Amino acid sequence: MFPDTRTAALEQLEAFLPRAGRAYASRRNHDTGPGTERTTSMLSPAIRRKLITEAEVCARVMATQGHAAAEKFIQEICWRTYWVGWLQQRPGVWARYREELAASQERVDLDRAPQRRYAAALAGETGIDAFDGWAKELVEAGWLHNHARMNFASIWIFTLQLPWQLGADFFYRHLLDACPASNTLSWRWVAGLQTAGKTYLANPESIRKMHPRFRLEAPLARTAIALPADDPGPPRGIRPAQQFDDGKRTGLFITTADLSLETEILPKLVAVAATSRIGGAPSPLKCAHAETALADGLARAAAHAQVEGERLDEENPIEAMRAWVAQHGLEQVVTGEAPVGPEAERLAALEAAGIPIVRVRRQWDDLAWPQASKGFFAFKAAIPRLLATV
Ligand SMILES: Cc1cc2nc3c(=O)[nH]c(=O)nc-3n(C[C@H](O)[C@H](O)[C@H](O)COP(=O)(O)OP(=O)(O)OC[C@H]3O[C@@H](n4cnc5c(N)ncnc54)[C@H](O)[C@@H]3O)c2cc1C
Repeated sequence: MFPDTRTAALEQLEAFLPRAGRAYASRRNHDTGPGTERTTSMLSPAIRRKLITEAEVCARVMATQGHAAAEKFIQEICWRTYWVGWLQQRPGVWARYREELAASQERVDLDRAPQRRYAAALAGETGIDAFDGWAKELVEAGWLHNHARMNFASIWIFTLQLPWQLGADFFYRHLLDACPASNTLSWRWVAGLQTAGKTYLANPESIRKMHPRFRLEAPLARTAIALPADDPGPPRGIRPAQQFDDGKRTGLFITTADLSLETEILPKLVAVAATSRIGGAPSPLKCAHAETALADGLARAAAHAQVEGERLDEENPIEAMRAWVAQHGLEQVVTGEAPVGPEAERLAALEAAGIPIVRVRRQWDDLAWPQASKGFFAFKAAIPRLLATV
């Protein structure tokens, strides 16, 4: 269901193309549940890791459906780009979320009533059938339909009165497509923090209509008062993309931020490597998906460079990278641009240790991110220019 190789992702895209036009626009909010043919592409885990890129997906959809019919699907793709660009300009929002997550966890641990509600929410035992079904689907499948995510987040915040940061973390640990930008900012949007004062209130009628497998008899919150506003600060702008030097001895370092780097123009490569395992604390399912995708990305890049793909010890990333650089006499280490999140933190640590990292930014991201300083409405105006490049 969720492609973990580039070949599988391209096949899934091709199979979805006939449904990417008007059928998608009219049916995309309907969620028929696991085991049925879904109304959306289910490509998000592949797009998150750039097994296929937003530009490739948009190009194929426009070529087969035409721009007018594909408009809604393309707009959804652009939501992802927009969130990533927005967070890229306000990295402090991610840092603050991580701090607040730790504080929220401590607060819930100290108080019996929220502790019980939190445990019930994680186990899918709240008595709210739709919420419980989604909690189990999230853990078992590593994915939820967008409408389910919106309503899950709303019930978490306004009915169960749990900190949004803990819900975002539950999603982040399990979603195969877990993305610091799309996840954190969508939770903030539901809570009324992203568009100040504007919340998303789960509506039982709409849930029963879009997810007919649930009866939803338990009462839900009838009001959604926005959480106290926080100030994301002014956008910091986007740093110019880095350029590699064609004349330098180059190694390619593959991360889960971009797993199809061989489709870009690269300098001559003398070595290709990835880490020995996925870091962080993902669920076993998410970890397995990411491991397979990483192995696939490494194998393709190594084949492209005609070298043996190597693995660098994840327990000692800086020492392992230094040793690899020394072993091959590398003068630069080219890697995919990693937007705000764990992959970017890893690259920053390597840079701070003196590794000559050069990040290759996709043209799509380079053009789009600077446009994401305000709301999506303003960003939308730039979409035609973006599409002209694919
Ligand atoms: C609370 C919450 C948390 C979310 N967390 C994530 C996340 O961690 N990672 C993630 O990729 N998406 C996230 N989303 C967005 C969206 O739910 C998923 O991208 C979508 O459900 C993926 O299914 P699909 O591939 O079938 O999407 P399709 O409808 O087929 O859309 C195609 C692609 O467009 C992008 N996309 C579609 N809708 C959105 C959206 N609303 N916001 C951003 N991108 C979108 C995805 O890359 C998706 O694969 C979240 C939404 C909410 C409400």
